[in-house]
Order: sequence, then structure tokens, then C-alpha cells
Amino acid sequence: MPDRSTEYFDPFIIAERGRSYKGIIPLSQLDRLKDSIIDDRGEVHYALCFAKEDKVYTVAGQIGTELVLECSVCLDKMFYPVEAHTKLGMISSLDDAARLSEAYEPLLVVDRQLRIKEIIEDELLLAIPITPRHPECRVASHGSQTPIHKMNNPFSILEDLKSRGDQ
Ligand SMILES: [Zn+2]
Repeated sequence: MPDRSTEYFDPFIIAERGRSYKGIIPLSQLDRLKDSIIDDRGEVHYALCFAKEDKVYTVAGQIGTELVLECSVCLDKMFYPVEAHTKLGMISSLDDAARLSEAYEPLLVVDRQLRIKEIIEDELLLAIPITPRHPECRVASHGSQTPIHKMNNPFSILEDLKSRGDQ
């Protein structure tokens, strides 16, 4: 079976045939993610089923990975697992979006051309928070929109000095 992740195909024909694709794509191949992640060494696992249900051409499945984002508070790296479940309805123009059932998110397909990589990029970009924050940094910045830098707690430094002095 050819690798569909980076190759263009006609998704409407694939949906008529009810094909499924499973695979792995390196994060480094997802160009649109480059500005959002600070490490592109990981990979994305996907399993997508193309089908036609009640005149709607659909793509449904799962996309899983772990992204490395930059915490907007402490500017340190932050591991962010993503397990996205997708249910998309293919449309070939924005007018079609209005006719699409609410059960599906619209997936705009231009000129009957699509690459799996584009679906994955869309889903991951949706999954990434606008201002990523570690859970502990979320507490620290509560009520403030201004990013603050993480400082060492002066008391814990004192504790360190004390315990070292005890030895
Ligand atoms: Zn942080």
C-alpha cells in the first residue's frame, strides 16, 4: 500500500471505496506545526477511515502524539500528549459547510486533492493551547495575563543551605 501521509490523493474516491489508513509520520514533516513546537523529533500515529455515510464523505479516526511546547509562563519545555478523535465531513466549497450535519467538523478539500499530513496538521494545531502553561505555572499566573518568570523560592534555597550545613 503506498504511503498516503505526504502524497496527494482524491479523498472522495477513497471514501467511496471505504479505505482506511494507518501510519506514522515524523513531526519534522509537519511544516505548519514548526512555529508551535520546540522539538520536532517525535512522530504522530494515525488511523483514519474514509467512508461515505448518507451522502456525506467522511474521515474518522484517531491521531496521537506527544508534542513539546514552550510554557508561556516559565518558558521551559512542556510535554503535551495529544490523543485526538476526529470526525470530519469533506466539503469542496465553503457553501457546502452550511449543509454539513453538526456531527462533523468541515474539512475543506480543494480540487479533490488531499494529503493525510494536512488532516494531521489541522488536528494538532487545534489541539495546541493558545498559551501553553504547565499545571503549576497556571496556578502561579492566576489572575494575571502577564507572563511571569519562574523564580526559585528563597525559602527552599535556605532549606538547601541548612541541610547542607547539617552534613
Ligand atoms: Zn511553566
